[in-house]
Amino acid sequence: MGEDVREALSRVRQRVSDAAVAAGRDPGEVALLLAIKTVPAARVRQAIEAGATLLGQNRAQELVAVEPDLADLPHSTHFIGHLQSNKVNQVLRWASCVQSVHAPSLARRLDAARGRQAGETEAGPLDVMVQVNTSDEPTKSGVAPDAAADLAGEVAALPHLRLRGFMTIGANDPDPGVVRASYDRLAAVREEVLASGTPGTEDARELSMGMSNDLEIAVAAGATMVRVGSAVFGARPPA
Ligand SMILES: *Cc1c(COP(=O)(O)O)cnc(C)c1O
Repeated sequence: MGEDVREALSRVRQRVSDAAVAAGRDPGEVALLLAIKTVPAARVRQAIEAGATLLGQNRAQELVAVEPDLADLPHSTHFIGHLQSNKVNQVLRWASCVQSVHAPSLARRLDAARGRQAGETEAGPLDVMVQVNTSDEPTKSGVAPDAAADLAGEVAALPHLRLRGFMTIGANDPDPGVVRASYDRLAAVREEVLASGTPGTEDARELSMGMSNDLEIAVAAGATMVRVGSAVFGARPPA
């Protein structure tokens, strides 16, 4: 049971590794996060049993529904979707990182909620990433690239958040050059922030970028984490 997931996972691992080698990088520098939206918990279990350790969830409701079924399995889950402010507490309960911080208001809400949670449970700071809209597509979430360094500085100043890096959804374009440009833009944001010396940005090294269809391009552009769903679990039902 679960052979299809196991085999698909191993094919994706090979793709990541081949892409890293082709780019002259160490394959160990690129983490694989499995995007599990709409995937039944039983299939997610198969992936974890096949060695996956890092999951990504888009919707708070689904996070809350699926995580209790996975609680006995070693894994961590990042939140990678649009986070509504009334769902912050639910998400903090189950997610170890929020990759989709796109505005100071959300950062402040996360900080305040983590502060309350820390008072009760001794939880450390919450890992977060700043989501950047690197493709200028109006339907995509994320802060504009030229405002990303300011947002990173604001996030870094909050006591209960730890800025780990940057996330983007690449350009939706058949031209690989356009996709590559969007990933290069995220890498440039990281360099700008690391070079700024802004307090609290020292750990902002992650570049979460690349999905099933374009992970090779993202790895070539410096991704430290690719987020893959359909290449492991198959096509999703239309949203
Ligand atoms: C669904 C999703 C992915 C994975 O997409 P696939 O094309 O299925 O690999 C990655 N990142 C985010 C934010 C997603 O919502």
